[in-house]
Formats: sequence, structure tokens, C-alpha cells
Amino acid sequence: MTDAGTVPARRIGIDVGGTKALGIAIDVDGAVIAEDRRPTPRGPGSLNPLIDVLVELAESLGHPGGRDGGRDGSLGIGVPGLVTRAGVLRAAPNLDGVADFDVRGRLAERLGGSIAVDNDATCATVAEWQLGAGAGMDDMMLVTLGTGIGGGVVANGVLQRGANGFAGEFGHMVVHPDGPRCPCGRRGCWERYASGSGLAMLAREAATGRRLQNVVRHAGGDPQAVRGEHVQAAAREGDAEALAVIDEFARWVALGLSNLTNALDPAMFVLGGGLAAGADLYLDPIVEWYAKLLYQPELRPMPRVEFAEWGPLAGAVGAALLPSLA
Ligand SMILES: [Zn+2]
Repeated sequence: MTDAGTVPARRIGIDVGGTKALGIAIDVDGAVIAEDRRPTPRGPGSLNPLIDVLVELAESLGHPGGRDGGRDGSLGIGVPGLVTRAGVLRAAPNLDGVADFDVRGRLAERLGGSIAVDNDATCATVAEWQLGAGAGMDDMMLVTLGTGIGGGVVANGVLQRGANGFAGEFGHMVVHPDGPRCPCGRRGCWERYASGSGLAMLAREAATGRRLQNVVRHAGGDPQAVRGEHVQAAAREGDAEALAVIDEFARWVALGLSNLTNALDPAMFVLGGGLAAGADLYLDPIVEWYAKLLYQPELRPMPRVEFAEWGPLAGAVGAALLPSLA
């Protein structure tokens, strides 16, 4: 671990996604000074190649390398799945055959220096909290609105990992016990409604009869092919039906934010993930619904709701910051 107060000149972070591993190096001020990527190895037996790829990527980004020579190395890894506090990946739906894979331990056999491993959304939380939209906030939460929903919690100025390291899995809060089936096996999880795929589902449900014609046109004429981007495209043209779907979507997002507010009383939500690209369309309706759904609004300042600043680099930047947080 890094001594308190000393930050290595070059910190490397790698965000492991389902298709690619994106690596960056940042300097002491947090500026990105190098970037590189490799395909994520897939298929049976891909775990050893994955470790090889991570080592290769770290070295290409300037990690001193080697078990003994790399005493000054600083490497953080973000992985898509449930990660224990010891850096063991318990489960990862988007990485083949991963169960109880000791990512940190395996990397430590190859590379010296500080190594930290955490969930990718937790890493994105660190990036926004330390160097992004949530900079300076002691009580903030990141909610990533992508294909699903992930996130992370900072409370009292400390990143919260939970007893097992699994804190921040907001997407699987159940908001409708008889709702649509979720890949997690249960029904009516928040991410069935309030993610990119949730937006698409709400639009497909609305596109019955001759309704939502402009959205369906953007989807090539097939109501079943409607995705979030088609709703966005029609809404940008001012289509009232598309804007109504976005309003309904915003209500589901705000419902989850109000529930999270009751649990943790944050001063700020940062919204990240793929839907951040449509922030101009989503922010106002989300904030309006959130104000309506907030419990005891007269007794508290309205928490800030803003979109993330880091975009697709958030996971890698946050991963690079992880070892210095420890
Ligand atoms: Zn679920």
C-alpha cells in the first residue's frame, strides 16, 4: 500500500469490460498521460490469458513490471462483477466462467507495488468523487444508467464497500415485485425500468397500435426493434410521444433515487453510464420527479443531481486512484 501523503508519479488503472480492457496512466495531479487497450480474452480457459493481458497492458502503460523490480508500481483494476474486499472476483456475468477468481492475488504473483481490485462501478464512483462531478463532496452516490444500473456510495468522506464488498448494486433493488423478470432471477428490479434497456422496454410497451410512430420509424418500422437511442432521436425532434416515454422513464429513475436518499441521505447524485450522453434530455424530468418523490423535502436541502464528467474513462481513472485510497 502507498504511504499516506505520497502519491506515485504514475498510477495505472485498467477497466475490464466484456469486450475490451481499457488502460490509462495518470500523473500525480490526476491528468491522463497514457491510454491503451486490448481485447478481453473470452471463452473457456480465458482467465490465465486475462491476467497476461492485464500484466502486458500495465507494462505498456509504464508499470515498472516484475515482482521485485516493481516496488513503486501502482495498479488498480476495475472488473464487472461482485468483488470481495480482498480483490477476489466472486461472479461476473459478462466474463466467461468466472467464479472466485483471485484477481489481486494472481496479479501480485507477477507484479510488485500496490495493487487494488474493485467493481467497475465502484471505480467510476471514485473517479467522479475524486476528480469529477462529485469532487469535494463527502456524501455522494454514483448511479450508472447503462444497459443495467450500477453505482457506488461515498459517506462521511469514505468510499463504502459493505461487509462483503458488494455495496452499490442499486440496479437490483426491487421496485415492483410482480414486474418483468430480471437476469438475476427475480422480478421488477429497478434496472428493468430505469436503465437503457428499461427505456427501450417502456417505449416498446407504449408502441402499440399506431402510437409512437416517430420512434418506431427511427427503429426501421419495427416496434420490437425500438431501443433507447430511437426514443432519444425522436425526442430531440420534439416528438411529444417520445418525450412522454422519457418522462415515464425519468419517474422510474427518480423513484430509485428517492429510495436511495431515504437509505443514505446523500448530498449529491452523480448519474453516469451510457445514458449520460443524453443528459440534456433526461436531467430536467429526473430532477422534477425527484423533487416530487423526495421524502420530507421541507426538512432538507434538495440533493444535487448532475451527470458524470468522465464518460467512458471513468472506470479506468477510478481504478488508477484505488491504491492511493487504501
Ligand atoms: Zn435483478
